[in-house]
Amino acid sequence: MRIGIIGAGQLGQMLGFAARELGHECYFLDPSDAPPAAKAGPVIQAAFDDRVALSILAEKCDVLTYEFENVPVEALQDIADKVPVYPPHDALRLAQDRLTEKQLFEQLDIPLPKYHPIDSVDDLRQAVESIGLPLVIKTRHMGYDGKGQFVLRDEKLVGAAWQELGGKALIAEQWVNFDFEVSAIGVRSANGDIATYCLTHNEHAAGILRVSRAPVEDDVLTDKATRYMRRMLEHLDYVGVLALELFVVGNKLLANEFAPRVHNSGHWTIEGAETSQFSNHILAVTDATPGSTATVGHAGMINLIGNIPDAARELGDGALHDYGKSARPGRKLGHITVVADSAEGRDTLIECINQSVT
Ligand code: AMP
Repeated sequence: MRIGIIGAGQLGQMLGFAARELGHECYFLDPSDAPPAAKAGPVIQAAFDDRVALSILAEKCDVLTYEFENVPVEALQDIADKVPVYPPHDALRLAQDRLTEKQLFEQLDIPLPKYHPIDSVDDLRQAVESIGLPLVIKTRHMGYDGKGQFVLRDEKLVGAAWQELGGKALIAEQWVNFDFEVSAIGVRSANGDIATYCLTHNEHAAGILRVSRAPVEDDVLTDKATRYMRRMLEHLDYVGVLALELFVVGNKLLANEFAPRVHNSGHWTIEGAETSQFSNHILAVTDATPGSTATVGHAGMINLIGNIPDAARELGDGALHDYGKSARPGRKLGHITVVADSAEGRDTLIECINQSVT
């Protein structure tokens, strides 16, 4: 099949490589010069809401998908009569606004931190009263990797927080003293087949994912996460890979956010699972049955952020994925995956790699 992918970053690149292995051809749409996915297929260089470019992509392809969630929903709706677009618009629309995202969690009985929509400085004062401090104030739209966030620890700083973020649609969230963070990744095909990966343990710094480890060996958490994931996939009549990020507090899971796409915390699945998240997304959007999500060992993934040190290229024990992007502080340039027979072996490898690449 010919698959159109909106966005040609590293997720598009890895989707494109998986599609090629499955015998499909990919075309991409992206405004940047020489984006990472250019290695996996031709790129139409245009803005994501360029109706003409989207029509050309739709005409060339049998199915369209996307690699990031800030694609304008209206632009996709306009081409939906020409070609199927997966995951469905509804999932994309709900994920684009932190308020509708949280309302979906509530509707599906998925526990989440307390929150309060903020449209004025008075709303912010009310949020402090009803939720308490500290609070995390986030922009409702276009936030990622901790961008557009303000942690309010002192009531005296309400004005300063409003000064920094006011004017945009905001949401205030209870600060969660979590034990650790996990993500659940699942896939659903058009005929309703569902497969879920084991839970992944994620470590962030400055809002950016640094290290992932899988599997999280905890049956209670895994069972809860699988139920939440299935609820979302079924409710949204979802097609493709979905990622759900959660905070762990004791044996409870609180949903933070979801992404209607393949996810950084699932990169380990390329080497660490029988079928990667990328292959499974392609299988789902091409009407095929998802492949086995079983792990093939204890996997770890280390993000390479800002630069790829020479040492990363000389590692014998890890698989380096260099996205081919130019170096810039805070930019995800690549990742390294390790797979070991035990969690201890995996953690030792991560430790060694961390020492040589940071
Ligand atoms: P987000 O952009 O919502 O994924 O947030 C980025 C990171 O900030 C998360 O992965 C957490 O490490 C942290 N964070 C976000 N929201 C909260 C919260 N309500 N309580 C504590 N930490 C948070």
